[in-house]
Amino acid sequence: MTQGREPQVYAAGVKELWQLPDDRFKAGSVIHTLGYPLPPETFGGGFIYGMAANVLDIGMVTGLDYKNPTTDPHNELQRMKEHPAVARMLDGARLIRYGAKAIPEGGLFAMPRPCADGLLIVGDSAGFLNGMRLKGIHLGMKSGMLAAETLWEALQADAFDRETLASYERRFKESWAYAELRTARNFHQGFHNGLLPGLINAGLATFTGGAGFGFINKLHGEPGYARMKKMGWQPKETPRAKIDNVLTFDKLTDVYNSGTMHEENQPSHLIVSDTNICRDRCTVEYGNPCRSFCPAAVYEPLFEKSDGKFEGRLQINFTNCVHCKTCDIADPYQIITWVPPQGGEGPVYTGM
Ligand code: SF4
Repeated sequence: MTQGREPQVYAAGVKELWQLPDDRFKAGSVIHTLGYPLPPETFGGGFIYGMAANVLDIGMVTGLDYKNPTTDPHNELQRMKEHPAVARMLDGARLIRYGAKAIPEGGLFAMPRPCADGLLIVGDSAGFLNGMRLKGIHLGMKSGMLAAETLWEALQADAFDRETLASYERRFKESWAYAELRTARNFHQGFHNGLLPGLINAGLATFTGGAGFGFINKLHGEPGYARMKKMGWQPKETPRAKIDNVLTFDKLTDVYNSGTMHEENQPSHLIVSDTNICRDRCTVEYGNPCRSFCPAAVYEPLFEKSDGKFEGRLQINFTNCVHCKTCDIADPYQIITWVPPQGGEGPVYTGM
């Protein structure tokens, strides 16, 4: 279904809800930021939304096509809150909820074929997200409506083969959703060479109906995990936020606020197909980036060097998992598979 399509690229969205002591940030107010505190070679930015009942929704989106293997999306959110303007907004406020989710950023050319025999794909799974506007719910809803119309037709014809269901794709191409996604079709790929070329591309896109630098051909992307550099690439470490448990929190405190629950006595829903790779290769080549990209401290490499080689095991604290699926996407060896845990367990995303 992805044949002939550009590889999907993702970003990890990490967010917190804060209860403000007063109405300093009006419900419905929106702030989007670009870049800070990420380095120029990493795509991403922040969002701050005013919600009802004086709740502030603050988050950071980090492109999962980053180069530095120590990139840590949770840490980037904590660093964003250290900015004096953001810290002032949160002065006297209380953290009430935490969550994370990977979002498809690849745009129109990275969308898979959304239909096959007996199958329609809607929402994020089909890439219905406008990365330029950081919005996808309206597109997800539209894809559901188009799928419903297609299914109604299929039910009447009692035919669910690919040819019949292909009218879903036709409906999409005739809809405003397709027109909107065309205007952002080269947005994310424009940042592959850094912030400045990305900004110029985005500016150019506003005058070229979304083409940007791709006015002759589409801009090509590559899977995010393939862009990760091995250890030794500079800079080695990303700066860490100073955790004070008032404005900034560590991952475990945030996991507590996600309300995630998994019964301990079940097989792990995070399957690492070959942990020898984690111990023998990843320690040396990438420094075990699972420690950094997982926003819930699930992966704990307990490796120690002895006689010139690493020994020990990878501990997987799967009960911490907040179901963002970042590990499945960002792992440079592609040996992690996320599967649903037993019946309905996971984070409590009320109000998220
Ligand atoms: S284990 Fe994977 S899916 Fe779970 S929180 Fe960590 S990165 Fe996300």
